[in-house]
Amino acid sequence: MAFDIFKGLSKAMGPLVAKRIGKEEFLNQLREAWTPVVKANTDIDQEVTNALDRIKKSGFEKSFKAVGVTGEDIRSLLKDIQSNKETPFRRESIKVGRNDPCPCGSGKKYKKCCGK
Ligand SMILES: [Zn+2]
Repeated sequence: MAFDIFKGLSKAMGPLVAKRIGKEEFLNQLREAWTPVVKANTDIDQEVTNALDRIKKSGFEKSFKAVGVTGEDIRSLLKDIQSNKETPFRRESIKVGRNDPCPCGSGKKYKKCCGK
């Protein structure tokens, strides 16, 4: 259930590198690594606890401390990734009726245009 928070995260991201790239870029790296593994139904609270625990036990702890990434940062990053994943589903659920104006903007009915 829990995802691997270090998967896709560069092992080269030691504290010195972290300090040099800064907090914003560090969070970008985390976003890149976590976007494929965070699901729309991931339990954020549980994952934050899991992530903090794993960070503590890993060599990455110094990197997180060096840039000042906190549990709150991790929580908001995960929530952000998750809400971006939910958006496409809502868009897909909008249906065009056969007698509605065509979404291509031709002004014709959908059934007489792209819905043929
Ligand atoms: Zn059309």
